[in-house]
Amino acid sequence: MRRVLILGGTAEGRRLAERLVAAGVPVVSSLAGRLRRPELPPGEVRMGGFGGPEALGQWLRDEHVGAVVDATHPFAAQITAHAVAAAEDAGVPLLVVRRPGWTASPGDVWVRRPTLAAAAEALDDLGGRVLLTTGRQGLAAFAGRGEWFLVRVIDVGVGGGERGNEQPHGPLPPRCRVITARGPFTVDGEEALLREHAIDVVVTKDSGGDATAAKLVAARHLGLPVVVVDRPPLPAGVTAVEDVEAAVTWAGARAGRAGPGGTMGR
Ligand code: NAP
Repeated sequence: MRRVLILGGTAEGRRLAERLVAAGVPVVSSLAGRLRRPELPPGEVRMGGFGGPEALGQWLRDEHVGAVVDATHPFAAQITAHAVAAAEDAGVPLLVVRRPGWTASPGDVWVRRPTLAAAAEALDDLGGRVLLTTGRQGLAAFAGRGEWFLVRVIDVGVGGGERGNEQPHGPLPPRCRVITARGPFTVDGEEALLREHAIDVVVTKDSGGDATAAKLVAARHLGLPVVVVDRPPLPAGVTAVEDVEAAVTWAGARAGRAGPGGTMGR
C-alpha cells in the first residue's frame, strides 16, 4: 500500500486521518506548524512548510506517496496551489476537500467583501466595536482602524506572546483586546460574548462548517451586521469534494485497499 499525504490543519484533516488510520491505510498528515498548541491527528505527522511547490513535488516522489488529499482551510490558497502543481509534477492524484461556504438566512445582515482590506473599509459605517474572527495572520489589514476590536484567535501562534503579553506577532489595531478560543462555539456562548463586549459588528471569513457558525446565528438574533470575506477560488480543474466521507473512499481506493469490511466505501 502506498501512503496518503493529508495536508491538514483543519477538523476535516483530522477526521480524515482518523478514518484512514482506523481502516489501516498508511497516512502522513502535514501541518504548517504555526500554532503553539496544534490538535494532532492520529498516525504519522510532519510539521512545517515544504519549501515551495518543486520541493513538495520532490517530497512526494522521495516518500513514495500514492495520493494527496488537500484538506487545508478554504483560505489557505497558497498551499492548495502548491499542492496542485506538485501533484501534477510528481504524477500523483490529488483531491481537495472543500467544505461548503455559508449562506445567509432570513434576518441576516451580511456585507460581503472580496478581501480582508475591503472588509476593513466596510467597517466605516457599521459601529465602533468589532468582533474580529478572521484569524491571526490577517490582522495587519485592520491595524490602521480606529474602532475597538475584540480579536479572537485559536492561539497567539508560534512567535506570538514574545513580551509575555499573549498577543499575536505583528501589527494589531491600536485599540483591541485579544482572546484565544477554539471552536466549536455555541449560539448562547456567542450571544453572551457579543453582549458582554457591546459588539456592533462581526467580521469573519466565509470559512463554512459548523464549528464557528454560531456567531452568525448570534449576530442575527441580536440584529448585528456581519462583514463576510469571500473565499479565494479553487485552482481550475481540481477535483474537489465537500465532505470527509467522500475523501475516505477516494483515498482508500488510491492507497490500494477498500478497508476492513468495505467500511471505507460506505
Ligand atoms: P497558505 O497561506 O496557503 O500557505 C503558506 C505556506 O505555508 C505554504 O506555501 C506552505 O509552505 C506552508 N503550509 C501551509 N499549510 C501547510 C500544511 N498543511 N503543511 C505544510 N506546509 C503548509 O496557508 P495559511 O493560510 O497560512 O494556513 C496555514 C495552515 O493553517 C494550513 O494548514 C491551514 O489548513 C490552516 N488554517 C488556515 C486558516 C486560514 O484562515 N488561512 C484557518 C484555519 C486553519 P511551503 O511553500 O514552504 O511548503
